[in-house]
Amino acid sequence: TDLQATNTIKTTCAYCGVGCGIEAKVNPLTRDVSVTGDKAHPANFGRVCSKGSSLGETIDLSSRLLHPFIGDEQVHWDQALDEVATRFSQIIAEHGPDAVAFYGSGQLLTEDYYVANKLMKGFIGSGNIDTNSRLCMSSAVSGHKRAFGTDTVPNCFEDLELADLVVITGSNMAWCHPVSYQRIRAAKSNNPNMKVVVIDPRRTDTCDIADLHLPIAAGSDVALFNGLLNYLVEGQYIDHEFVESHTEGFAEAVAASQADGAALAAIASETRLSERDLATFYSWFAETDKTVTAYSQGVNQSSSGVDKVNAIINCHLATGRIGKPGSGPLSMTGQPNAMGGREVGGLATTLAAHLEFNIDGDRDRVGRFWNTTTLAQGPGLPAVDLFDAIADGKVKAVWIMATNPVVSLPNADKVKKALQQCPFVVVSDCVAQTDTMALAHVKLPAQGWSEKDGMVTNTERRISHQRALLPAAGEAKPDWWILSRVGQRLGFEEAFNYQHQVEVFREHAALSGFENTQAQRLRDFDISALADISLADYNNFEPTQWPINAAYPNGKTRFFCDGQFYTPSRKGQFLALRAKPPENPTCADYPLVLNTGRLRDQWHTMTRTALAPRLNQHKPEPFVEVHPIDAKQYGLTDGSLAELSSKWGKMYARVNITDKQQPGDIFVPMHWTEQLASAGRMGSLVNPVVDPISAQPESKHTPVAITAY
Ligand code: SF4
Repeated sequence: TDLQATNTIKTTCAYCGVGCGIEAKVNPLTRDVSVTGDKAHPANFGRVCSKGSSLGETIDLSSRLLHPFIGDEQVHWDQALDEVATRFSQIIAEHGPDAVAFYGSGQLLTEDYYVANKLMKGFIGSGNIDTNSRLCMSSAVSGHKRAFGTDTVPNCFEDLELADLVVITGSNMAWCHPVSYQRIRAAKSNNPNMKVVVIDPRRTDTCDIADLHLPIAAGSDVALFNGLLNYLVEGQYIDHEFVESHTEGFAEAVAASQADGAALAAIASETRLSERDLATFYSWFAETDKTVTAYSQGVNQSSSGVDKVNAIINCHLATGRIGKPGSGPLSMTGQPNAMGGREVGGLATTLAAHLEFNIDGDRDRVGRFWNTTTLAQGPGLPAVDLFDAIADGKVKAVWIMATNPVVSLPNADKVKKALQQCPFVVVSDCVAQTDTMALAHVKLPAQGWSEKDGMVTNTERRISHQRALLPAAGEAKPDWWILSRVGQRLGFEEAFNYQHQVEVFREHAALSGFENTQAQRLRDFDISALADISLADYNNFEPTQWPINAAYPNGKTRFFCDGQFYTPSRKGQFLALRAKPPENPTCADYPLVLNTGRLRDQWHTMTRTALAPRLNQHKPEPFVEVHPIDAKQYGLTDGSLAELSSKWGKMYARVNITDKQQPGDIFVPMHWTEQLASAGRMGSLVNPVVDPISAQPESKHTPVAITAY
């Protein structure tokens, strides 16, 4: 009978921005779920990694938040929702809308994100909704907007296979986007001409397929790519027809890139690379038409993250290598629905549907579409500023959804203190015990992966359906439902009268097409063909890359192949960039550079992956990777315990001595929480410096000290 009860349901993986399609064999009687790759899904064609294949081991109910709570008291949903609405109303009435805030997550589905953004920006009237995507790829967003006039990922995963040169920079793709890495590895074995360059201070597993590894000094990427731009000019590798017809600012960008010294020796000294390796990389890039540069957090998480993104894009614009098969800059998004969050305006600095606070007419456009008179006047506080405002008492109520900022934000001890003293903290999550949930006044049980149902968008703009497999755990509800019921209690009954997630999705699709014409304001993100989608078509939706509109009813693989961008002139923009070092230099007290990142078998703060025994075997405890020279200097032995300290905090970790690190650099994984390893919380060390344009923290460069413990 169990066999008869087993269904196969297509859905998407809960973890990274590759957004793999999976087939889940589900036994609703036993809640057993087993997962294999969906051979028909264009993101992965049947492949899955260790995390994706273990999803069935992570749906155990024992760790779940099953009921609403006010304080320690279990309450009915109505009581919890009334409490949230009442306290938010009081604080808004007394202190104004900017005294409240939402903090969301790339784990939210598009429908959840849409309702959260509409409620805060559209009706409460504050821009104070930000998301953990701020920590992940907001520099890529700002870089795209500066170069293209809009936040567009120009190309697709297939380009990684079609390229003759793949440059992987600031990404341990083998661990963080494993299926994309598998695709490159397979393509390389089929194409003897393909070369791979990995640019990373660490010699990671991604280097296993590298023809050249450049162990760059942290933060020197602008110098590296400015040097490349110069090399392209000097060697006459510029696509002048493309540059003259379709771009602006080339001469200024070249002049700026020469200002710091264009000689290889100068760049080698700044980047800590050999002149020979630099010359090899530059010549391969110059001479290979089909080149993709894939970049991730190593580029984005920097006080010059946006400049780094534009330094990469400059080189692709200069060679006309954008929007063509096998060519282009490819921002590898971290989270499963960070892209969906960008589409709905989940960042404090944007409106919905790729409309912008700072573009004439856009604010009115959103206000008219939502039929609201209380739309936020301007951008809200990005993540680090938002938690500072909570610490300062300016923000007095915060609702945190599906994320764990007490662990993941920089200067995490300050974040913890801020929430401890915040008058009203709401946390909605599927997990009962997180470091952040422990500080909540109201706890709201949200549905998790395998229960919730809605859309997600992956790195390559592909919208896929994440489907429910099992009934909700306990009294857990979808996030869009929780938010809209609070919205109604705040007095916005009609605007939040959603009964099903498809209604939210239709509205989101309609907004994307609202006044989206050349005469009004042409935008890239347009899925207006789905504005009237039937429930059956929504349920059966096949993965499709946006836009999905009258011109492209079946989606579009690449942008900008026609040389048309979304700037006022319709031309791509070069940026004139000067290299600058990370904000906080090392010093006598803190002589080492702390780099942070993910492990192969864990995800974020381990609330899900720690439930799978086989995933925990890979790296069972917090560790610090140290070069043998530094280990000797600081008296560390392999396997011993070390204390790490910075100006912002401390943590303890097991020493792993390895020459995969460069001398002077150390690496700590980001995942462990106070609950899992009381003193292994990396966020307490990390400096809270941010990029001045994107507000993304500099999580790859914190000066630290290390001592034997
Ligand atoms: Fe999931 Fe990413 Fe692994 Fe694909 S590559 S199975 S989306 S974690």
